[in-house]
Amino acid sequence: MPPTNIDYLRVSVTDRCNLRCTYCNPLGHAHFADDRETLSSDEIVRLIGLCARCGIRRVRLTGGEPLLREDIIGLVRRLAGIAGVDDLSMTTNGVLLASMAAELKEVGLKRVNISLDAMDRECYRQIAGAELLSRVIDGMHRALEVGLAPVRINCVVIRDVNLSQVETLAEMSLRLPVAVRFIEYCPTTRLTGPASCYVPNSEVRRIIESRFGPLLDLVVSDSGGPAVYFKIQDAVGAVGFISGRSSVFCHRCTRLRLSSDGKIKPCLYGGHYYDVKILLRAGTEDDAILHLLRRALQEKRQHTKLNAAAGDFLMQQIGG
Ligand code: SAM
Repeated sequence: MPPTNIDYLRVSVTDRCNLRCTYCNPLGHAHFADDRETLSSDEIVRLIGLCARCGIRRVRLTGGEPLLREDIIGLVRRLAGIAGVDDLSMTTNGVLLASMAAELKEVGLKRVNISLDAMDRECYRQIAGAELLSRVIDGMHRALEVGLAPVRINCVVIRDVNLSQVETLAEMSLRLPVAVRFIEYCPTTRLTGPASCYVPNSEVRRIIESRFGPLLDLVVSDSGGPAVYFKIQDAVGAVGFISGRSSVFCHRCTRLRLSSDGKIKPCLYGGHYYDVKILLRAGTEDDAILHLLRRALQEKRQHTKLNAAAGDFLMQQIGG
């Protein structure tokens, strides 16, 4: 049964990023859109206000790197004030988080997911293209301190690159109230690496269990999200698995995506989108935009092309 309660919107607020993660936008292959292609804050706020009228209750800001957007604090403040949006969160690489966490919390951000693919400095540099591991770890601690909770850590596991990091990352959940989530790599362009880089989460789980013992089932609400969560015995936090390649969760997916250049995508892997930027910039009345949003929602509800291939796409533009 396709989901009926489509209430979640992921918004890529910029395609720019200060890292060049090999699995997302590898070093030397950076390509960013012209600033004029990116939705302005006024456009994003108007659109999310209309989305809220169509039942969107949860909004996640992503990118590119959302904290690179100059007006991000003001944007969060305005979005937090939209009636109907109950949950405003962000996915960030954490590099700029330590200095911004307190203000983000103050203006209404509820929680953060932080990408962290290795705890070893050299391994982190190899993946992210920059030696910024300590900044990310500081960002994580600051997010915990100011209460941007729950803090979740996202780790994309790539064979021969960071599989060796799984134990250290999972170990973090023993000491800290964080959910460390292992994400199966999804090939997006030929530059991000072949599908053979992907490690099934069953293998990741075996590695964790052989070091820490059997994982305990943990009932945590992911509000229909794709992650399943477990706990290492006596851990403060949790470990989670997002298994987008070895399993199919389309029938549970309640998320729409808005790309940084103003396209609503009902499915990450689907090629089809609705171009709302054209309407916004043509001075279109709310009713016509609402009509388009309802069409996108209807398509999402009827979506049955499980894991359909979109061809090449840029994760930084869509936001993961
Ligand atoms: N810059 C932010 C960050 O690093 O978290 C937000 C943007 S990033 C595109 C959003 C999420 O997409 C991250 O959690 C990242 O791990 C995930 N992601 C990017 N490329 C991916 C890929 N090829 N396969 C699986 N997940 C990917």
